[in-house]
Amino acid sequence: MKLTIVGCSGSYPGPDSPASCYLLEAEGFRMLLDLGSGALGALQRHVGLYDVDAVCLSHLHADHCLDICGYHVARTYGPDAPYPLLPVYAPADAPARLSAAYGMPDEPGLETAFDFVPLTPGSYEIGPFTLTAGLVNHPVEAYGFRVTSGGRTVTYSGDTGESPELVKLADGADLLLCEASFVERPGLPSGLHLTGRQAAEHAAQAGAGRLVLTHLVPWNDRSDVMDDAVRGGFEGPIELARSGAVYDLD
Ligand SMILES: [Zn+2]
Ligand SMILES: [Zn+2]
Repeated sequence: MKLTIVGCSGSYPGPDSPASCYLLEAEGFRMLLDLGSGALGALQRHVGLYDVDAVCLSHLHADHCLDICGYHVARTYGPDAPYPLLPVYAPADAPARLSAAYGMPDEPGLETAFDFVPLTPGSYEIGPFTLTAGLVNHPVEAYGFRVTSGGRTVTYSGDTGESPELVKLADGADLLLCEASFVERPGLPSGLHLTGRQAAEHAAQAGAGRLVLTHLVPWNDRSDVMDDAVRGGFEGPIELARSGAVYDLD
């Protein structure tokens, strides 16, 4: 299994990265976790626009899903249209919410390009991947994903505050891709996002092999996020996500 960081900027695109988007590849199958603001552009550095086989949206905040709108244009009006319906695993509100964002009536909505599959907690077989979705700790319906293929496991936190479910999803994972939106300071809100220290604590409790910190908000100093993370008691390698980074787990 190969993981490519397409976008890792938290909440909005930064100068060096789009918002959240991660490409997982195994056995020639290509699956995206999130397709946030700006990600459709950078995605094309790594994979043909029409070579994506499935998309999974962790939640419906704009920085995780909004480029579905541009992708609908590409898949509906591109030179070889119509393209096969692309499966999009997402919270149940996705068809209505994304149609509204696009400016499309609910009928036909975006379902001329996408086959929306409503997510609930549980496991899904998607190509060569087994994806387990679990509800994490965020103000809207939000999932973390555990993705396994060929004996390798990547867990993605999505957006979450402290979450025992995330520890379960990351149990023994080879790589935990975990959000670290906040820099430690007094009075941070709960149930929203993690600091680097909290991300590392989750990785340590889960016994993950390595930790990649993501959803890095442009107004934070990346070195502060890392300084927090090294205080979290995780003994494996810790890295900051970077758009274009590739992790080959085989
Ligand atoms: Zn976000
Ligand atoms: Zn969010």
